[in-house]
Amino acid sequence: ARSSAAAYLSTPAATADGTRILTYVNIADPSDVEAIDIATCDGVGLMRTEFLFSHGLPDEDTQYRAYARVLEWAAGKPVTIRTVDAGGDKPVPGFTVQEGNPFLGLRGIRLSLSRPEIFRAQIRALLRAAVHGTLKVMFPMIAVPAEYAKAKAMFAEEALALSARGTVHRMPPLGIMVEVPSVAIAPEAFADVAFFSIGSNDLTQYVMAAARDNAAVANLNDTAHPAVLRLIREVADFGAARGIPVSLCGDAGGDPPLIPHLLRAGLRELSAVPAQLAAAKAAIAEVTL
Ligand code: PEP
Ligand code: MG
Repeated sequence: ARSSAAAYLSTPAATADGTRILTYVNIADPSDVEAIDIATCDGVGLMRTEFLFSHGLPDEDTQYRAYARVLEWAAGKPVTIRTVDAGGDKPVPGFTVQEGNPFLGLRGIRLSLSRPEIFRAQIRALLRAAVHGTLKVMFPMIAVPAEYAKAKAMFAEEALALSARGTVHRMPPLGIMVEVPSVAIAPEAFADVAFFSIGSNDLTQYVMAAARDNAAVANLNDTAHPAVLRLIREVADFGAARGIPVSLCGDAGGDPPLIPHLLRAGLRELSAVPAQLAAAKAAIAEVTL
């Protein structure tokens, strides 16, 4: 099965009845791209940036170089970079705080908005890197529209500051992760975002009240549960009705048994870790919609 799955790598993903499915890769360390042939995917669906924060807080130039490197590698294909999602299962010394319920606390966009100088350095790095390719930026753990509005305003402010200094930059489309149930249940509050990317890892744990890192409740942590799939379908329908692209970048996107459920829920863009890309494309090819 392994070699036959690998045969799918070289062709664009499509279902058995011919619906094209955009397939992206998830990356973390910018050097991940060295092992990936850009021709095998439609771009990067999720670049996690926590890796850059694992040896202390990175400065703006270090981040700029990391993002620019991935954008250059992608050669014009879209690269979706997520602003830092520290906290929860991803503690960052010197940045995240000690708290009783880290999955329900100051993580993702909440933490970034509470430490604006750290967030603004990442924003400037992204704005500068954007000229090196087709960048899209998304925010993790958005729960209410005010968080998106604040982050978007900070992008506009930093772009103005870069302009004033004569620094080359570009404003990327700004989207949000759909991983907090409030967003999936009431997406109409977010009709002004450029795109949605469903984070099925967190969406599943929050809908099922089953921590993603606790083996004792792994049986409950099920993206194929009808409650989770219903939310995914509603977000896909909302995006289609409003012309807002919807993709999925959680681990489910590279999980062959889940892929038929995701496509039947209406998704047409999936992102998977590189090791699962061939298997994901093979699973897509078996689905009849
Ligand atoms: C998710 O929650 O599905 C996701 C893609 O983000 P992370 O796994 O980094 O929390
Ligand atoms: Mg998440």
